[in-house]
Amino acid sequence: MKYAELVGVYERLEGTAKRLEKTAILSEFLKNVSDEKVLLLVQGRVFPNWDPRELGVAAKLLVKAVQVATGASLEKIEGVWMEKGDLGLAADELVGKKTQATLFREQLSCAKVFDNLRKVAELEGEGVVDRKVQLIAELLSSAGEGEAKYIVRTVLQELRIGLGEGTIRDSIVWAFFGEKYGAGYDAEKNSFTVREQDKYGAAAALVQDALDRLNDVVEVVQRARQGEDALRGVELVPLRPVKVMLYQKALNVANALEIVGVPAAAEFKYDGFRLQIHRDGDKIVLFTRRLEDVTAQFPDVVSVVRKNIKSARVIIDAEVVGVDPVSGKYLPFQNISQRIKRKYDIGELAAKFPVEVNVFDILFMEKSLIDVPFEKRRMYLKEITEELPGALKLAEQTMVNTVEEGEKVYARALEEGNEGLMMKNVQAMYKPGSRVGFGVKVKPTMDTLEVAVVGAEWGEGKRGAWLASFIVAVRDPESGKFLEIGRVGTGIKEKSEEGTSFEQLTALLLPLKTEESGREIRVIPKVVMEVDYEEIQASKAYSSGFALRFPRMVRLREDRAAGEVSTIDDVRRLAGAQRGRDQ
Ligand code: AMP
Repeated sequence: MKYAELVGVYERLEGTAKRLEKTAILSEFLKNVSDEKVLLLVQGRVFPNWDPRELGVAAKLLVKAVQVATGASLEKIEGVWMEKGDLGLAADELVGKKTQATLFREQLSCAKVFDNLRKVAELEGEGVVDRKVQLIAELLSSAGEGEAKYIVRTVLQELRIGLGEGTIRDSIVWAFFGEKYGAGYDAEKNSFTVREQDKYGAAAALVQDALDRLNDVVEVVQRARQGEDALRGVELVPLRPVKVMLYQKALNVANALEIVGVPAAAEFKYDGFRLQIHRDGDKIVLFTRRLEDVTAQFPDVVSVVRKNIKSARVIIDAEVVGVDPVSGKYLPFQNISQRIKRKYDIGELAAKFPVEVNVFDILFMEKSLIDVPFEKRRMYLKEITEELPGALKLAEQTMVNTVEEGEKVYARALEEGNEGLMMKNVQAMYKPGSRVGFGVKVKPTMDTLEVAVVGAEWGEGKRGAWLASFIVAVRDPESGKFLEIGRVGTGIKEKSEEGTSFEQLTALLLPLKTEESGREIRVIPKVVMEVDYEEIQASKAYSSGFALRFPRMVRLREDRAAGEVSTIDDVRRLAGAQRGRDQ
């Protein structure tokens, strides 16, 4: 397919804010396209959803590529970028001027764009920066009208065409089951109707389930094309990360029991970070909750899993906690967070910060277990886990029937230095991704929010060299959009020795810059912080309709992806609870 054709689809998608219209456009496209490369590109990707590899190209490198492709000076490029407020638009203008002068231009194909970008991601070693610049520049030089914009945005991993996960799922259902079950769309009224509601709904559930299990839109599209049977009974694949199950916040133990029912499994909530442990025979791979591969950083975990997990093909969910090698006490999360990032001297750091693996769930053992009730999964997990003090154990679990019993476990959990309590419905299946109340968490600090930084403002006076105020946002799970909720400038340190500093945040955010106007920049939402605040107020000042009063950064959440931050529903719930408390 010509890249221009795909650009036409991007433009139509970007051109409408109506979700139904987007769904109609994408479903039409999916019906007619089965090329894997194109199906990835339309999502703005070059790797399947489950593949942890990233393009990893900073805006600075892109600017270079624009320079090589157009011959424009750096100042010129930065100037147009400032004026347009979007590097993609700037590239388009600069490339457009150039290509008008070139008469014979070979039209870009999707395959060419895909192959070059894939190479960019895969190149490693010394001197690769120039090669990457060349590969991108080659695409930009051949770009026709409107094409450079989307090449740049694909590289920045932000297409900005408003395609959320929900829209993609709906488009798949519509494309392959719409006709079959009498779906009708009235563009003028922007209304969608289905004749056979039940069957259409069942097909939608199958699509969602297959997406959860495979974490691969392209494969689900191909299966949906074949019909319902191909979507049924999809197995998880060891070594391919699955989206983890997330847990809602409960207000307290009583509220938690209301949500999960009795008897409930009360477990310690360990304050470490999550590892999804995959094993297929000799091969063991560890993923973070953001599905990054951190196997190399945790040789100690790999080794204990190899020896003490008695099953050859498994996927296990665990929380890994730092342990003080002298006192044996748990260490705060910050200490082991160093291990996630470390690329060298891994053995040394592993000795300095040993970890204990607390296994709490199992998703696969020879076959998928995610449909099996939690109490049974726990039994399987127990069977195959040979505990090793200080290195591997089952998460501490107590069955509770009353609030009083729950409170007791909660008190013990906190006393022993844990973050709080998890309460789980013993009958629930494992549900990747969605927060569905199959399990909840109870923590003493209930009202912090996790927010994504979407923009920032340069400081003044002695903070003039840094970004000093951060525009933060929560997520709308329906549209996938980020909704602003406030500006955070407190809780951040001036000196790096004291904690997360302005300088550090500035260094993290600048490579993510997409726009700049006046003192303000906009960034790709990637950096996540946990904030507390005095109150949530209704407000027209921000796109979420809420504003945080006196927000303060508690800590940077490097273990979180922007797609996982608190949702607008969380905010509504917390605002509601706050009202309840005030009355
Ligand atoms: P939160 O990070 O506050 O959303 O709480 C959920 C996280 O708690 C999970 O993603 C795990 O990383 C962690 N966790 C700690 N202990 C457990 C446990 N026993 N069961 C489930 N999750 C746990």
